[in-house]
Amino acid sequence: FGALQSFDPDIAGVLLSELDRIRSGLQLIASENLSSPAVLTALGSTLSNKYAEGYPGRRYYGGCSEVDKAEQIAIDRCKALFDADHANVQPHSGASANQAVYGAFMQPGETILAMSLPHGGHLTHGTKVSFSGKWFNAVHYGVDNETEDIDYDQVAELAREHRPKVILAGGSAIPRLIDFEFFRNLADEVGAIFWVDAAHFIGLVAGKAIPSPVPWADVVSFTTHKVLRGPRSGAIVCKEEHAAKIDKAVFPMMQGGPQMHTIAAKAVNFKECATPEYAAYAKQVIANAQQLAATLGENGIRPTTGGTDTHLSLHDLQGVGVTGKDAEARADAAGIVLNKNAIPFDPQKPNIASGIRVGTPSVTTQGMGTEEMKTIGELIATAVTKGDADPDHAVSKEVRAQVTDLVTRFPAYPR
Ligand code: PLP
Repeated sequence: FGALQSFDPDIAGVLLSELDRIRSGLQLIASENLSSPAVLTALGSTLSNKYAEGYPGRRYYGGCSEVDKAEQIAIDRCKALFDADHANVQPHSGASANQAVYGAFMQPGETILAMSLPHGGHLTHGTKVSFSGKWFNAVHYGVDNETEDIDYDQVAELAREHRPKVILAGGSAIPRLIDFEFFRNLADEVGAIFWVDAAHFIGLVAGKAIPSPVPWADVVSFTTHKVLRGPRSGAIVCKEEHAAKIDKAVFPMMQGGPQMHTIAAKAVNFKECATPEYAAYAKQVIANAQQLAATLGENGIRPTTGGTDTHLSLHDLQGVGVTGKDAEARADAAGIVLNKNAIPFDPQKPNIASGIRVGTPSVTTQGMGTEEMKTIGELIATAVTKGDADPDHAVSKEVRAQVTDLVTRFPAYPR
């Protein structure tokens, strides 16, 4: 770090001030986490220098003896962790992994059935602004008006009507467990490939805290930086019969050289995920999310679906008369980082939104438990309903003082 500081104080300063930002507030973005110093060390390593197009033992470049070891370890650990036939650890991100799945199974113009973005899906699940909606015919299911959980009857109806090539389950704002067996049976009935985008919850699967999609799905794509707590990246596991297709779709169809430093960091993360400490963390993430959702609910900030089975909850602010945009700004002014989010059947535009999404991976990594979640729920409710976007407002200051107390007792990246 000394070398960076003397050559480029501007960027060194950003690294330090970002660390400061992380340490001084509560990080409740459901898709973020605090990866370990071991993971970060692998990321900042000389493996970043190496070109290694191809796969271990069959590269298009010389000098790959050492990075081959790293990738093979990552593949073996990933397969063992998820009990998967095959793993590809090269996708650069969740979106890249998803691109490869489309590339493996679909031709332009063919139909995919996926969850709609406003009901909890993801941009890469066939929205018009993404390659997935521009190049493929996307049909979308949503949640039931009453339960606010996936409308399985609608999924079945649309599958029978449209006979999609691929049926996709998963998304970015789904608080409940997904019935993978239902999707498997439906995919078999209509002759579709069953794909799960497990980006959000794969970390809970790794910690054996929720059921795995791997036995049910043809292919499972995921990010490695959310609950899983690895480097910012992606991966794919699949059945043996699809292995060659997936590998060819990742490289050379969609990507060039793999990022070997990130692959090494994924290997480190997969090793961390196989420990008893990680399993305890994964269970605590869920207990914390359930407590946080309940406390917010008790304060009039209703959790959609009535709660959560996972690491995140989605909350409807209409009962307290605040928009998602204002709630995000008020929480931020009080040192609490969360995001506005559309709720199902949201009357507001997405950039205003009627909801917030909160997640517990980062605060659980910091060692906080359900008692702290009660406190955090109360603090969010105070900031959102009585606070202001001005950090100098009395309520912002009062909440921030309590946030400081929490993060002092449960520091991120302890010194
Ligand atoms: N899939 C889902 C369900 C996601 O939630 C995300 C990111 O939030 C992605 C894919 C895309 O991942 P990335 O941002 O790494 O491209």
